[in-house]
Amino acid sequence: MSLLDVKERMDALVKELNQHNYNYYVLAQPTISDFEFDQKLKELTELEKQHPEYQSADSPTLKVGGEITKEFKTVQHRWPMLSLGNTYSEQDLRDFDERIRKAIGNDFEYVCELKFDGLSMSLTYKDGLLDRAVTRGDGTKGDDVTTNIKTIKRIPKKLNAGDYPNEFEIRGEVFMHRAAFERLNSERIQKGEVPYANPRNFAAGTVKLQDSSEVARRPLDCFLYFLYTEKPLFKTHWESLEAVKNWGFHVCEHNRLCKNIDEAIDFIHYWGENRFNLSYDIDGIVLKVNSYAQQHELGFTAKSPRWAISYKYKAEEVETTLESVSYQVGRTGAVTPVANLKPVLLAGTTVKRATLHNANEIQRLDLHLGDTVFVEKGGEIIPKIISVNTLKRKPGAEKVIYPDTCPECGSNLVRKEGEAAHYCPNDEGCPTQIVGKIQHFIGRRAMNIEGLGDETVEALYRKGLIEHISDLYILREKTAELKQMERFGEKSINNMLEGIERSKQMPFEKVLFGLGIRYVGETVARKIATHFKNIDSLISASYEELTSVDEIGGRIAESLIEYFAEPRHIEQIEKLKTSGLQFVTEEKEVSLASDKLSGKTFIISGVFEQFSREELAELIQSNGGKILSSISGKLNYLVAGDNMGPSKLEKAKKLNIPIISDADLLKMIE
Ligand code: AMP
Ligand code: ZN
Repeated sequence: MSLLDVKERMDALVKELNQHNYNYYVLAQPTISDFEFDQKLKELTELEKQHPEYQSADSPTLKVGGEITKEFKTVQHRWPMLSLGNTYSEQDLRDFDERIRKAIGNDFEYVCELKFDGLSMSLTYKDGLLDRAVTRGDGTKGDDVTTNIKTIKRIPKKLNAGDYPNEFEIRGEVFMHRAAFERLNSERIQKGEVPYANPRNFAAGTVKLQDSSEVARRPLDCFLYFLYTEKPLFKTHWESLEAVKNWGFHVCEHNRLCKNIDEAIDFIHYWGENRFNLSYDIDGIVLKVNSYAQQHELGFTAKSPRWAISYKYKAEEVETTLESVSYQVGRTGAVTPVANLKPVLLAGTTVKRATLHNANEIQRLDLHLGDTVFVEKGGEIIPKIISVNTLKRKPGAEKVIYPDTCPECGSNLVRKEGEAAHYCPNDEGCPTQIVGKIQHFIGRRAMNIEGLGDETVEALYRKGLIEHISDLYILREKTAELKQMERFGEKSINNMLEGIERSKQMPFEKVLFGLGIRYVGETVARKIATHFKNIDSLISASYEELTSVDEIGGRIAESLIEYFAEPRHIEQIEKLKTSGLQFVTEEKEVSLASDKLSGKTFIISGVFEQFSREELAELIQSNGGKILSSISGKLNYLVAGDNMGPSKLEKAKKLNIPIISDADLLKMIE
């Protein structure tokens, strides 16, 4: 390479790596594998070593990686949160071990720990209470996410009695278990929301949410792995981990004290094979020199400690052939491309398909039929095509082109502004959508109709017996036709009809969720059912009224308005009403505890330490007060917690409405 080329290559790498860092840390949506990233970073590091004069000031080798986001208060770290040197090779580990022995001799131990794939968090405790939680950010400054972190059950808000100092910092990794990830992600897909690629992104996205009550609903966990105190309390890292366990912290039970590098490498091999049996993702193993005195002697480079290193497992990756691409139509009409692969063994399972997400992804990969593709199963549950080996592409291979029309019904596909997915707009006539909607309605989490399964729904549709949800409730009149269906005996028919009959008792919120309105998931359905009390006030609600409800944003409001503007949807609802389904929220009988708040009106907003908003609302109502739906001149008090929306606050201030805390409220009814 000429010097000019070298400089150009270095600049290109800096630019590319900074973009990937941004995708990873800020957007939480990486587009390349960790392995590829590390290869590129290594190349850049090498070039910078040979040509230090060309090192650019914003080189990623000079930074830890993350950036700070605007929404949270920025906090300076007391001790910088460094990164760890990392490697994929055993030889590098032995070199690392050599360097240490040269510096401090042969008498030392390693603590080997799993490298959890989540996001690191710094927690400060004062007088045994959690005081502050801060993300790593750029390593010197991070985001104050205390309110969100307080919702994590595994992080003690108050410590057990113990010999801890008045003030100390402890660091660990916040992560999500795979099972929770899969459950919540499939809920997101059901709601038509963009799913997260892996548990780490889900955890990172969750910690950065503005709404702590939503954070509380997503189960996160945390392992602690570094203790920082002003005065040294322990001689070794191992002792400190043992101690913090007793204070109440969650420390991983798989940590191991190793006498030498061979034992550490055995540990690495063991987890290389067994890591898929853990309930959470790890991406490597961290080795730390155990003695604090020796750590001190070894010191730090600008980026990382010299006494620790991480060994990273390669994401399992294989090469196979792309046989075809199929397009699946979901119940909301979203058309998702799926790659059909020549079956291949990967991370312990046979893989035949990989997700392609959307049209952009096909374009990014420049896919051709018969291509040799690299498939990776890292943190992702569904394998993913990482790249194409274009060298092996056969001449004349056919380019994969995302269709213009729906593969099921032939309608022209549409794409909403700002969305990556294409939709089939023909929700009335597209068979897959029709069947999918009815299947959603009868599902366990919606109407939970016993005696009726997905396959029966499909069969009933093909026989022309159902086309709309409301048709389920007139099946009773069609027993003659039902009896003619294959493998459908008298008993099954009766079971089904009874199940359908019983579903008429399902509460309004379930019916609302069952309708399958885009973006109206279970939680949203419950919120609107509680707020509007019946379908008629919901149908006539304006955009402002809808968005004044907690957690109902513009996108959901628009979707509701669009849905109810369709005469055929209203017609369906009328039919369901006539059949006797519940379209009114049952009022709970409240016996008044007192009438101290009688004649007073309230709105509750934000998050509270001791109460949920529902509990506060109940408290107000049981003392004779009323909850209003939006801030107006009629409002007497705004009960404000943490993190409430700034627009609400501003409006209340403008109207001179007293803003009170939950404690003030308690005083009023004492
Ligand atoms: P890297 O981001 O590759 O430089 O690796 C450093 C990161 O590994 C830290 O910032 C932590 O978030 C994470 N990590 C996960 N498990 C551990 C552990 N047991 N000890 C130290 N760091 C860990
Ligand atoms: Zn269609």
